[in-house]
Amino acid sequence: MLEAPEALCLSEQLTRTLKGKRITEAIAGYTPHKFTWFYGRPETYPDLLSGKTIGVSRAYGGMVEIEIGEMRLLFSDGANLRYLAPGAPLPKKHQLLLGFEDDSCLTVSVRMYGGICCLPPETPGWSLQSYYDSAKQKPQVMSDAFDLAYFLRLIRGEGVREKSAKAFLATGQTIPGLGNGVLQDILYKARIHPKTRIGTLTDAEYETLFRALKDTLNEIYRKNGRRTETDLFGRQEGYVPFLGNDTVGAPCPRCGEILCKDAYLGGSIYYCPGCQPVPEMKKRIPDSD
Ligand SMILES: [Zn+2]
Repeated sequence: MLEAPEALCLSEQLTRTLKGKRITEAIAGYTPHKFTWFYGRPETYPDLLSGKTIGVSRAYGGMVEIEIGEMRLLFSDGANLRYLAPGAPLPKKHQLLLGFEDDSCLTVSVRMYGGICCLPPETPGWSLQSYYDSAKQKPQVMSDAFDLAYFLRLIRGEGVREKSAKAFLATGQTIPGLGNGVLQDILYKARIHPKTRIGTLTDAEYETLFRALKDTLNEIYRKNGRRTETDLFGRQEGYVPFLGNDTVGAPCPRCGEILCKDAYLGGSIYYCPGCQPVPEMKKRIPDSD
């Protein structure tokens, strides 16, 4: 799943590659896929999109949006976008294909689940709207507007003291585009266990966490995303995570302890028990939270 740094990379690649191209053909819903959410009926997409020219692309959290005239074509995380140069073979399965007048294409396929939304200027009540609006209104996590002062306001916000580090950072759209994927390395760098209660951290640790968050996301962005993702051209990206399925059971490069994996809050957490001590029982958040 794309998260903030990868969505930003992808939006920049889309702008550089597609801006100014005119759509000559649009096919939506070619391969039926139960967990692809279209806005409106996909059968209307050819009429809506054909003849239009691609504008600028932008990222909001983990979502990417392409401006097309007065409309927007929005993809939620889980939609996999691929640019095909003229003459490149088409994939057998796709949920959206845009063909351009120079015979290049954009294809979109959804892995587990994802949204493909062709949004006219007025879009009354659509399914991903609150998610989208929240991502659009809040400062992008890698932007200058997301600074230490903003982060401290978030972490000192009402009810946050009782949350675990994972719950605060990666649930409830507090920080759009920061999900369970990039979370692991941020907490590893900050030497904070995912189950640590925010209220038990010191002001210095808040700042350490902020720096770890910025450093990790910037590094992923500079390397065009995590190695688990592919970019617009199908290239596997360059950031190799410290923590993940590939490193469970391996020794920690910092302290030599064996890296661990647990299930927590609807997903896996990865950590080093040496550098990220498990919080004491009294401070610990029950797993059922
Ligand atoms: Zn360690």
